[in-house]
Amino acid sequence: MSNSKSKIENPKWVDLHTHSTFSDGSITPTELVAEARAAGLAAIALTDHDTCDGIGEFLAASRDSGIETLAGVEVSAEFGDRTVHILGYGINPAHERLRTVLQKLVEGRNERNAKMIRKLQLLGIRIELQEVEAIAGEQVVGRPHFAQVLLRKGVVRTFDEAFDRYLARGRPAYFERFRLGPEETIALIAEAGGVTALAHPYYMGLSSDLVTATLARLKGAGLVGVEAYYTEHTEEETRLYVEIANRLGLLVTGGSDFHGAIKPDIALGWGRGSLRVPYALFERLVEALQRRGWNPPA
Ligand code: AMP
Ligand code: ZN
Ligand code: FE
Ligand code: FE
Repeated sequence: MSNSKSKIENPKWVDLHTHSTFSDGSITPTELVAEARAAGLAAIALTDHDTCDGIGEFLAASRDSGIETLAGVEVSAEFGDRTVHILGYGINPAHERLRTVLQKLVEGRNERNAKMIRKLQLLGIRIELQEVEAIAGEQVVGRPHFAQVLLRKGVVRTFDEAFDRYLARGRPAYFERFRLGPEETIALIAEAGGVTALAHPYYMGLSSDLVTATLARLKGAGLVGVEAYYTEHTEEETRLYVEIANRLGLLVTGGSDFHGAIKPDIALGWGRGSLRVPYALFERLVEALQRRGWNPPA
């Protein structure tokens, strides 16, 4: 059997977008590595929101696991009146300025969270910040934790209803928080030794022309890739983002945005069942890092 044939018969898949208990995922980085093994994945990246505090545990768990891993982070950035999420890969989690800025982002979340609690209380809901923090576990508290508390209390019947009624942008309990712009975020991650990809481009809600223009602009700021393979993308969207990436000379990345029990319908690696992120995308990302002098952690 030729090598290329065995590759076709034995495809390897990866997941480059996952969350742990260090942000709003429900399983620890160690459990995430075990879950990746159980799911038959070849490689995963941990991309918690606005923190790299889970990376040490994640990399330690990956040693001798048979799973290749990449240290990552997902930073929410301000983009006009919208939000874009920038994924950073191969970052040094000990990088001093990265840590300082992420800490500021987390403080901005904490201020926002206190405002959200007060607003929900004004709306007549009996909710305390401590209840949300208790669900969150580690330090980064996000809106999905609020959604879980509202669900548990019977204030809403579904997770999505919590966003639709209270938590989504433009809804009564939504407040802005301190964020960087995408260009600053891209520069910060590069400074910390990483490469960046624009997460879930569908989320920007832009036409394909505006997505192209945005990606071209961000490429000028150092953006390396775009997350074309994503749980919420239709096949047409994936094709479109792959095509735009090829046209602009950006790498393609992909992941499920796994959150464990917080988003129970999204499976690690496989999304809602049909997601498949080829191993070659992981290899190209690693090559891009190596061209910048990156060495995998020992
Ligand atoms: P935060 O980091 O607190 O701004 O919350 C962001 C998280 O909330 C991400 O994991 C999103 O997937 C989730 N999220 C944002 N908007 C919605 C929405 N409309 N419905 C469901 N989940 C959402
Ligand atoms: Zn999340
Ligand atoms: Fe995101
Ligand atoms: Fe995410």
